[in-house]
Amino acid sequence: MNDIHDAPPEPGSEGELFLDFVNTVELTGGVPADHASGGRELREWLHARGLIGSSVTVATVEHQLPAFRELRGVIRELVERLSEGKRLTAAQLSKLNRAMRDGVHYHQLLQGADGHRFTVGQVGDDLDQARAAIAGSLAHYVADHSVDRLRVCANDGCRWVFVDRSPGGRRRWCDMKVCGNRAKVARHRARRREATAPTRRSGARPS
Ligand SMILES: [Zn+2]
Repeated sequence: MNDIHDAPPEPGSEGELFLDFVNTVELTGGVPADHASGGRELREWLHARGLIGSSVTVATVEHQLPAFRELRGVIRELVERLSEGKRLTAAQLSKLNRAMRDGVHYHQLLQGADGHRFTVGQVGDDLDQARAAIAGSLAHYVADHSVDRLRVCANDGCRWVFVDRSPGGRRRWCDMKVCGNRAKVARHRARRREATAPTRRSGARPS
């Protein structure tokens, strides 16, 4: 059986499956790029994390793309809500719980042809189990950590989901060098506009 925690985190990954999965839709300047848009990409993503074996075909993954997209939407919905300090609704909880329940499986002892070699096989749909593992990583995360560290990047053109691991817990952007600077540049420009327009103060507060 695969243990998702055995997979080494990818560069830039935060080591939480649900974060990596929800961020497969990446916004740049508000324009989305889906890194798991097709069966081939999603299959690669799942396989790289040990969530499916190599016997799962692209066509099978393709067939279940809508279910994975739905789960990704559910995760974003839940994380955004939690990052705003709101309670999850019963409907939101049940969407996540359904994804975990769909991954129900059991194990069987299988005897090889020689009668001496045994393997323990897992019975259940691989892709249902993969979705359950992703949903489960969010469930375990929120059960084990303080949810007020879950963040959605304050840059509206980014919305990257991350965990604020800074000592003060005041991180608002996914990356200070990228989004933080971008926001700072925008604020700086807004201040300059105000300074160079003495006759008509806009009163607009830099965001
Ligand atoms: Zn960002």
